Amino acid sequence: MSRKKVHVKSFGCQMNKLDTALVTAALQEAGFGLSESVKEADVVLINTCSVREHAEQRVLSHLGHLKHMKKSRPDLVVGVIGCMAQRLGSKLLEHEAVNIVCGPAEIPRISKLIAGAVQEDKKTLAVTEKVRRKGSEQQNRSLEEFESAYGIEDERVPAQAFVRVMRGCNNFCSYCVVPYVRGPEASRPPKAIIEQIRKLADHGVKQITLLGQTVNSYRYKAGERAWSLADLLSAASGVRGIEWLRFVTSYPAEEFFEEIMQVMAESPKVCNYLHIPAQSGSDKILKAMNRNYTSQRYLDLLDRAREIVPEISIAGDFIVGFPGETEEDFQATVNLVEKARYRNAFIFKYSPRPGTKSDKKLQDTVPGEVKQRRNVELLAVQETISDELSRQFLGRRVRVLVEGLSKKPHLNSTQGGNNPQLVARTATDYIVVFNGPESLAGQFAEVKITQTSPLTLFGQLMSDS
Ligand code: SF4
Repeated sequence: MSRKKVHVKSFGCQMNKLDTALVTAALQEAGFGLSESVKEADVVLINTCSVREHAEQRVLSHLGHLKHMKKSRPDLVVGVIGCMAQRLGSKLLEHEAVNIVCGPAEIPRISKLIAGAVQEDKKTLAVTEKVRRKGSEQQNRSLEEFESAYGIEDERVPAQAFVRVMRGCNNFCSYCVVPYVRGPEASRPPKAIIEQIRKLADHGVKQITLLGQTVNSYRYKAGERAWSLADLLSAASGVRGIEWLRFVTSYPAEEFFEEIMQVMAESPKVCNYLHIPAQSGSDKILKAMNRNYTSQRYLDLLDRAREIVPEISIAGDFIVGFPGETEEDFQATVNLVEKARYRNAFIFKYSPRPGTKSDKKLQDTVPGEVKQRRNVELLAVQETISDELSRQFLGRRVRVLVEGLSKKPHLNSTQGGNNPQLVARTATDYIVVFNGPESLAGQFAEVKITQTSPLTLFGQLMSDS
């Protein structure tokens, strides 16, 4: 049998991107080739996201194209993995284009499932039946082995890698599908995580981002010792070769918050950056969202973070147009954004997700055009703050880790000769664009900031860097 080629397409969050990287590495080890284009592929694998309706619609439209394509290429195998696969299960398998449906906890089986579908024209469902039940020892072991074996560097961003420290979520925010598709929280053993980071460092990785849906609730009992995220960050800081450590995403919980901030203040390797979604500034809406804090407690956490780590840069997430959100509630969100002074905020319009509490119990009362207006207004408030914060960098030198070529020619710089434009990030997650040799990708550099926009700093490479 000739070597079959797989085209992998990924939607959704960083967690999904990591799953895609793991699956891709596993497929290569199993003897499959990779294809950049659907046309040349024997297998198309789609890693899906269920967090927003829009993401699911994009997957369905993609499947529509594939169904059409399969008319002339009936041997084409189509697999769907990820959250949407777990959420829709057998319904998705009924889609004419789909051969395999595989949930997040079943991905260690993906190479075998694909090999089976290539050999025999059949449909296969591999989802977890009782997703909220704690995984069996066997399932946890195979996920752990899969994670450890294929935890490799992200080839698209040299010298950087993501390491999952926990799976699932126990928070049940009323709008969110994650607890129903990714199951209960399960933290990975610290020994395995540190070992994985060590291996990545040996391969030249300099920056590690620890991933979890609520990464600050990481807990692991190893013998007499109970590990928290703060312990994990301390241990990871000791790995030679790793220079920057990040962690996303944090839930606004008080438990262990100060310890985590202390490690950030004390370890030069832990980047001064915190992504901590607030979702709303209205206590009424926060309650309806089943977020377990008030806006004041959230702001107190930010104050505490800034007291311990004065240079910290903070990012937030918001949902506008949640059921019942009045103009007054929205104004409370605007007030919170003004007080929080985020470096950046990610703003989403509410869309009900099937199976969640807010979908079952609350009416989607806010009209689409009102959601759109609030989205635009909140973005404008944030943009003014981002612009002010960015301007503070004018004339300063910053240390950056270079990601590679900039996608857009943001600046017609005369500085930097014939060098292309590169994109990089500071430890505080500011994007920096400057002219420099492509060979700097994956290296640290010093850049003097000469121009700013709300979300990007532009500068000149320092020759002594
Ligand atoms: S914390 Fe809330 S929003 Fe985040 S994954 Fe868990 S349930 Fe979803």
